[in-house]
Amino acid sequence: LSDRLTETFRNLRTKGKLTPADVDGTVREIRRALLDADVALPVVKEFTAKVRERALSDEVNKALNPAQQVVQIVNEELIAILGGQQRRLQFAKNPPTVIMLAGLQGSGKTTFAGKLAKMLESDGHTPMLVAADLQRPNAVNQLQVVAERAGAAIYAPEPGNGVGDPVKVARDGVEAARRQQYDTVIIDTAGRLGVDAELMKQAADIRRAVDPDEVLFVIDAMIGQDAVNTAKAFQEGVDFTGVVLSKLDGDARGGAALSVASITGRPIIFASTGENLDDLEPFHPDRMASRILDLGDILTLIEQAQQAFDEAEALKVAEKLATETFTLEDFLDQMQQFKKMGSMKKMLSMLPGTGQMKQQIDNFDEREIDRTEAIIRSMTPSERRNPKILNGSRRLRIARGCGMTVTDVNQLVQRFDQAAKMMKTVARGGVPNIPGMGPV
Ligand code: GDP
Ligand code: MG
Repeated sequence: LSDRLTETFRNLRTKGKLTPADVDGTVREIRRALLDADVALPVVKEFTAKVRERALSDEVNKALNPAQQVVQIVNEELIAILGGQQRRLQFAKNPPTVIMLAGLQGSGKTTFAGKLAKMLESDGHTPMLVAADLQRPNAVNQLQVVAERAGAAIYAPEPGNGVGDPVKVARDGVEAARRQQYDTVIIDTAGRLGVDAELMKQAADIRRAVDPDEVLFVIDAMIGQDAVNTAKAFQEGVDFTGVVLSKLDGDARGGAALSVASITGRPIIFASTGENLDDLEPFHPDRMASRILDLGDILTLIEQAQQAFDEAEALKVAEKLATETFTLEDFLDQMQQFKKMGSMKKMLSMLPGTGQMKQQIDNFDEREIDRTEAIIRSMTPSERRNPKILNGSRRLRIARGCGMTVTDVNQLVQRFDQAAKMMKTVARGGVPNIPGMGPV
């Protein structure tokens, strides 16, 4: 997924304006990339339609850099599908909080039960695991091992009593937790290799019996196209309040995440990323979007640039240039905008493919901006507005005022002229350069 998209976006980045053909080409690539990542077809269709519509809208055409806008749109739409905000586990007002797990066999329920217990404990909770998977002979024992490793309490049926009733075990488990004042109960349940009616009924019965605060559907991120049918079946059969994406440590690109979130509308709450009990993280929609896009830190970069370099401001400057009223005061404003972007070197190092620019990056001196600022500040307002009046004696006075040499002042005026030219490019819809750098 990543390489192709990166390539597409790189092509986009070199363009000033986007034509409808550009947008269509990009949307085609995004579509192919998502299908490669095993995102379900209806989800892909809906997603690309939305991106296309927004990419062709005024929002993009008026933007300073349309290519970045498209990347931004793709990112935003991905995050939106993935639930927007991070969703936290919901705790009951009156403990114990009851959390029930559901999912196919091998999806990672039992492992997750241990991971969650451990995470809750480190947050100061007192979880108790309940072994309500009585389907497989070894299941209770497996949960016992996990509980021990997590250092958590466990409620399990007495061994050797034949096949027990998982609904009763679940109900008794919650009762035991309440009596012994554990504040959370995690109910592990049985799964089958495929969706089946009996299993679904059992899960629904358990749900009805214990009235959980959360029902978490655990799904293997590597499941691919089957994610949709499995998720739908569990939503209809048991219904769930949240999703746990397991085995994200594999080479799954997160296609299942997109499909499940989009089709069920349920938030993904946790990401399980390994076989160890510590391999559990709260799910962050924005991080998953980046993982799906896999554009390195480019999205972070765009964000930073957008926050700092207010586009409306830039357009105002461009307008001034068109009417030749760009002044040193505007230049100073602009410098401050660039400064707000934070460390330029760090910013540039986040861009993919900046290898050739390394020399320029190393040569860039951020203190240059400070010096520039000092010089402009020691000019009179009329000098700032009209640099043409800067004769020799004025330059000398300015140099003294800021503790620099006349040569420094001369260089600044020269750079101002260059910047004015650069801003003219912007006014014509081109991509701006950053002073002291080549094109970014
Ligand atoms: P259950 O049948 O749903 O209870 O699934 P299990 O918890 O028994 O997990 C099935 C297998 O997947 C076990 O071998 C686990 O070690 C493994 N597993 C579970 N979660 C993860 C994970 O996040 N990453 C990896 N790599 N393996 C996992
Ligand atoms: Mg299990």
